[in-house]
Amino acid sequence: MNEYDSNRIYDLVKKINYKKTENLEDADCYVLNTCHIREKATDKVYHDVGRIKKQFKNRKKPIVVITGCVAQAEGEILLKDEKYIDAVIGPQSFQNFNKILLKIENEKKRINFTNFEVIEKFDTLNSIKTSSSKISSFLTIQEGCDKFCKFCVVPYTRGAEFSRTIDEIVNECNELVSNGAKEISLLGQNVNAYKHKGKNLSDLINEISKIKNLLRIRYTTSHPIDFSNDLIKMHETKEKLMPLIHLPVQSGSNKILNLMNRKHSVEQYLNLISKLKQINPLIKFSSDFIIGYPGETDIDFEDTLKLLKEVNFINTYSFIYSPRPGTPAAKMNKTDMSISRQRLERFQKIADEIKLKYRLNLVKQKSSVLFENRVGSKNEFFGRDEFSNSVIVKSDEDINGKIKDVIIKSVNRNTLFGEINQKIDRSNFAA
Ligand code: SAH
Ligand code: SF4
Repeated sequence: MNEYDSNRIYDLVKKINYKKTENLEDADCYVLNTCHIREKATDKVYHDVGRIKKQFKNRKKPIVVITGCVAQAEGEILLKDEKYIDAVIGPQSFQNFNKILLKIENEKKRINFTNFEVIEKFDTLNSIKTSSSKISSFLTIQEGCDKFCKFCVVPYTRGAEFSRTIDEIVNECNELVSNGAKEISLLGQNVNAYKHKGKNLSDLINEISKIKNLLRIRYTTSHPIDFSNDLIKMHETKEKLMPLIHLPVQSGSNKILNLMNRKHSVEQYLNLISKLKQINPLIKFSSDFIIGYPGETDIDFEDTLKLLKEVNFINTYSFIYSPRPGTPAAKMNKTDMSISRQRLERFQKIADEIKLKYRLNLVKQKSSVLFENRVGSKNEFFGRDEFSNSVIVKSDEDINGKIKDVIIKSVNRNTLFGEINQKIDRSNFAA
């Protein structure tokens, strides 16, 4: 979502004649767009600002703006502790970016702007065209969260659940596609909680799948309790909807899910997975896990490993629990860090084995890949298959923006290497 927000901030500042630069020393203004989900985020801001300070030691100071959730959560402290920062702007008020920038330029003011103005934000963003032109593009459709998992800062930094209208999303989707996008990932902190005037995520997918030159649709991140039957049904009927579902579960222990206030049990989670597999046996899953949550015993952790093996996730993101200031879990008794580290290591070893086994099975198989960019200056191209696996092939022809059938020849932990299957050319596929 920060990538999407950064693109939109760029769309805004273009209006007052700011341009992007690849050469950091040329910058008149630095924007650090931050994430606060786990610790060290604030340290990173101080570190990056220190680096900018050093770079500009004997030169005119650039404007330094901190945006995103660290600005929202710790803006006041940042301004107090680091005088080199000119402004902090929260993720729900960055539509004011230009006003703030001009104020800093003209009045030399330091500004803290962290209001929750999500309606005004999207009203402003809807009125300016997106300049993003990536083959695989992000599009925020929903923001914020009302679920209040006890470990999580999102409800405090992004605010309450908010959904954009179907019309504005379809318009933006059309813009992205006319700029060259072939794949859109619909984004939301709880993307499947999307709801606007009685329409839900499946209605939205239905609408955007009508866009002719849009080839692939993804959505992330889903919450297990918001999976409606009509969204499940979409995976049976919508060819453009990719069969990888990111479905964070956090833990395989009902006791821990309860302590987290996750609002679902392991059984409900597994039931949802089996419903989705029944409707489309091709579907695969990825997930997020928190290891060493307060109260997690060896038995709870073993339950997490059991779930990991049972679902056969093709990708997992696992993190040691990180206490976040102001969240209820931060006041709970912590699990010993050395135990958490050992558990994380065990978890990741098993998760890696599952992933590698899945990847080795892909060798000699055919996969359908949407190519996104050339690798360096070589005749190699990077793309993603339907399950978001990274794939690299050689090609003399420019295949960016095309879907090709690829035979996988070898794999490693991060990448599949293949050859284009010359027999079937699906480059004009646009069903
Ligand atoms: N809305 C999504 C997740 C958004 S946060 C959901 O409910 O599933 C992305 C991921 O960051 C979470 O799934 C969780 O695994 C991780 N995370 C969030 N807060 C964390 C914390 N305090 N410590 C460690 N990991 C955390
Ligand atoms: Fe955070 Fe997701 Fe829980 Fe919301 S549902 S509080 S975003 S982990």
